[in-house]
Amino acid sequence: MTNSFDIRDTKMIINLDILSSNIKEIKKFIGEEVKLMAVIKANGYGHGIKQTIDILVSSGVNIFGVATLGEALEIRSVDKDIPILILGYTPDRLLECVVNNNISQTIFSMKQAELLNKISKDAEKTTIIHIKIDTGLHRLGYEPNEKSLSEIINISNMENIFIEGIFSHLALANEEENDKQFDKFNNFVDMLSSYNINIPIRHIADSIATIDFPKYHLDMVRVGALIYGMRGYRRGSINEKPVMTLQTVIAQLHNIKKGEGVSYDYLWRASRDSIIATLPIGYADGLPRSLTDKGYVSINGHKAPFAGLINMDQCTVDVTDIPDIESNYDKVKVIIYGDEKDNAMTVNEVSKMLGTNKNDILTRISKRVQRIYVR
Ligand SMILES: *Cc1c(COP(=O)(O)O)cnc(C)c1O
Repeated sequence: MTNSFDIRDTKMIINLDILSSNIKEIKKFIGEEVKLMAVIKANGYGHGIKQTIDILVSSGVNIFGVATLGEALEIRSVDKDIPILILGYTPDRLLECVVNNNISQTIFSMKQAELLNKISKDAEKTTIIHIKIDTGLHRLGYEPNEKSLSEIINISNMENIFIEGIFSHLALANEEENDKQFDKFNNFVDMLSSYNINIPIRHIADSIATIDFPKYHLDMVRVGALIYGMRGYRRGSINEKPVMTLQTVIAQLHNIKKGEGVSYDYLWRASRDSIIATLPIGYADGLPRSLTDKGYVSINGHKAPFAGLINMDQCTVDVTDIPDIESNYDKVKVIIYGDEKDNAMTVNEVSKMLGTNKNDILTRISKRVQRIYVR
């Protein structure tokens, strides 16, 4: 299966079978009792949303998590029924849209709870919410104190709101801090229980916590990066694989003489007579400009380092050492991000080179890069 409108040779190939197999591996790991939320914010970490919903649902995802209303609506446009939780902030003016589309919302203030209840009442609906508790990250959430307790008790009495879930997020600072956060969360949930407020779905684990600390699974895990085969865990292990390959082609070859410069400012100069390949991918496609003097691409299993500054739409690599490149440069596949077995840079490796994380690298891959879905 390929897209019928194949407009560019710089592509992200997304393997839906691997996506499905990653979900199944995660399900096997967490067991039958624990629900699986697939977090598919930021265009599914760059892998697309609409095109992946069916396979994710049929592989066993119970609910989707997103950061924004726009992402939730994208899922709704292809699946009318699947539960969707907005994990982040939604402006007051958009809560009506949340209600009308049967989307669940994270709540961390009385003001929004009241507003959501009123809108739901006017629409003759019951809106599902998950309460967020701040146990230390200090991003979003109710502080676990008496005041919050009484507010949540009030929310639980609102007629057009159903508190389906309660959750927190770990800073993953270290195991001791994790445990502190986990205990804070559980204590607060217990306090609510003592007021007879029993919220069915408690959750705190992201991808890393899910694999490294099964004791944090509770009723549901929220897995993002791992479904795309991005490994962040250290202790546990499952058999996930990268879902995508970022690839391009060679647009042109140049034979240059020792001493000649390449690309803006001639920052790279040939230390020998060289063959330079120009690739139609640049930083506007999400290839970080700062990879210029660190990264490489893979051509027929050989590494070809970047030669000169990565430009907006193009970059240049040194292919002098690649066998037979001159006779078949127009037929080769150039892998930008791939698998170690192709001698390609992995997203993990790139993130380390640049001192950032994998999600930062993944979500930079821009709209201009064509997504191709294969089975
Ligand atoms: C993004 C996000 C996740 C998923 O994170 P991964 O590390 O990609 O698994 C889980 N929970 C919340 C609240 C998030 O914002």
